[in-house]
Formats: sequence, C-alpha cells, structure tokens
Amino acid sequence: MLPRHVYVHVPFCARRCTYCDFSIAVRRVVPSDEYTLALARELELRFRDAGEWSIDTLYFGGGTPSRLGGDGVSRLVDAIRKRIDLAPKAEVTLEANPEDVTPNAARTWHAAGISRLSIGAQSFDDKVLRWMHRTHDAAAIGRAAEHARDAGIDNLSLDLIFALPRNLGRSWEADVDRVLSLQPSHVSLYGLTVEPHTPLGRSQARGDVVESPEENYEAEFLYAHDTLAAAGFDHYEVSNFGKPGSHSRHNSAYWTNAGYAGLGPSAHEFDGAARRWNVAPYADWLRRVTSSEDPLDEREELTDENRAAEGVYLGLRTQRGLETQTEDAARIAPWIAAGWATLGPAGRLVLTPRGWLRLDALAADLTLVRSCY
Ligand code: SF4
Repeated sequence: MLPRHVYVHVPFCARRCTYCDFSIAVRRVVPSDEYTLALARELELRFRDAGEWSIDTLYFGGGTPSRLGGDGVSRLVDAIRKRIDLAPKAEVTLEANPEDVTPNAARTWHAAGISRLSIGAQSFDDKVLRWMHRTHDAAAIGRAAEHARDAGIDNLSLDLIFALPRNLGRSWEADVDRVLSLQPSHVSLYGLTVEPHTPLGRSQARGDVVESPEENYEAEFLYAHDTLAAAGFDHYEVSNFGKPGSHSRHNSAYWTNAGYAGLGPSAHEFDGAARRWNVAPYADWLRRVTSSEDPLDEREELTDENRAAEGVYLGLRTQRGLETQTEDAARIAPWIAAGWATLGPAGRLVLTPRGWLRLDALAADLTLVRSCY
C-alpha cells in the first residue's frame, strides 16, 4: 500500500551554518529546474506502476527548500501533483529561512498549496545569529511571519536552538519571549549538539568553543516547557510544542510508525517493514536518477528487536506515551517516584519533561528489561 505521507529533501543552502551536519549542497544559484526535473524522474522511476496515490501530508525539508523561491516551489509542487493527489485538507509544510519569505514568495507558496511554514529562527540575538553563520538577522524573523500571514499562511512553526555556549551571553528567556510575541501555532526546540566534522566541532577541537554544561541544557529545556505550557502550548513530543489542533501531522506520522515515502538526496523512507535511504550527495543522486537508476543508498529490514526498541523509543518521546506491560511495573516504579514519568489514560507510560531529559537512557533501559521477559 502506498504511504499517506511524503518527505521531499531539498538540499540547497546559501552556506553552511556552524553547527550543521545535514546533507546539503551549498549553492549561490539554486539549480531549481534541474532539481525539479530530477525529482519528477525519481517519482516516475520508483512509483510509476504503483497505482493511484493520495496523501495526507507533504513535507519539504532540507537544506533550505525556501531557496527555490516562489516559482521554484510552485513548479516543484506541480511536478509532484502530476503523480500524487493531495487529500482535502492535506498538510503541506515548507521549511523556510526567514530572508526567503518575501511577500511575493509567500503569496506564490500559498497559491501552490503550502499550508504550513516552518521558519528557522534559531535565535533573536543578532550576535548569536552571526556566530551561527545564519544568513538572516532577528528583524527578518518578524517580517517573515508577517509576510506569511498576509499571504494567508497562518500555520506557522518557529525553530529555536537552546543550550548555546555560555560565553555568547545569549538570553534564552528573551528568545522564548520573542517567539511568543510572534504568536506561532507551533514551536520546535533543539538543544545544540556539537558534531566533530562541523565547523563548530572543529572550533571546539581547537579550544575556541566550550559546550554548554548539562545543567544549562536542563534549565533551558525546563524553562521553555513551563513558559510555553503557560502560553497554551501542548508539549506533545520531546522537541515540539503545538497549540491544540496545530501539532505537526507529518512528524506525528513518524512517531506513530506510519509509512512514508522519501524523495530527493539522502531522503529516508519507511514502508512498515523496512527503511531505505537515498544516496546523500546531490551530484550522485542527480546522476543516478537522470540515468534512470534507483538512487537507493541502503535498505534495512527491521528485525523484531529493532521494532521492539523503536516502539519503546517512539512511544516514550511523545505525550501519547507507551502501552505498558505487567512486567514493566518494577522497572518503571522508581521513574514515577523520581518524577520522570506518570501513568496516563489506560495505564500508558508518559515521560514528564524531566523524564525527556533522560529519554535515551530510559528507552534503552526499558528495551533491555523487556528483552528479558
Ligand atoms: S540552513 Fe539549515 S540545513 Fe542549511 S546549513 Fe543552516 S542548519 Fe544546515
């Protein structure tokens, strides 16, 4: 059965942000037509004979999909809709950097069917944005939200990064306040992680940057939880907050183990039994699809152990929680006593924000214990 969710990876960025380890292609001029033709080719190659296909969510991630501009995104959506129908009220998300959200681009995206914009704000402190090597300043974030709303795109998500090195002097409280002042319907928060092969990783190796201490990470995460909850947001997944009715339907599909298709370089896909992912470098993906080859990099069949571990991890990362088994009781009782978890409706195990700070360890622990039942 064809999946109801599609992810499209648009790899282009103007430059690499200091902390970024995503699969991107840095381009001053984005080869929009070349990319769109290649994506249509991938769709045809891999799904030509798969029958009628209708989807509930379409997500353009990257990279920076907004770098395709108004017309570029419009042509890309048209190319996809030649093969795939969007169900009524489908959620169509575009990740955008603030400076790309011009009045004209936003109007064109809205007309093309984009219903949700995920704006990479990261911070409202210009000094911090320069340190991150972002291409926008703080004022551009407010303008982007305004242009999107004027164009009719009301479903706005803003991303922020927390746990930055202390010597930057960033005020997390001020940034959370600035996010709330823009009245988004959704907020995503990511703690800074330093990967060795990024510009930031190299700075850290030289001793130029000192990672934020653990207690700072915890304090900022808990502050955001309290402040956003008080403002009416559901903390519905470890990194995501949404107003009621505005949770990301696309990402929620990942967390409930629904199948999804992935198109574009490095895109991942899941069919309920196996994962596959495409080759990551743009040039390799382009060469493969234009010579009518599947751009597959690898495919991984999930074992029963994989499924059990993923089930625990996915359940614990969301507010929906995890169905418990009788044998779990002894292991989870101390978590509940410590304030890391609660038992929700129908006895589901739901981690608290303090529990989410230990998500990896708790999920690994419960998976191990369950493997012994
Ligand atoms: S805009 Fe996003 S994908 Fe591009 S370099 Fe920056 S963090 Fe990476």
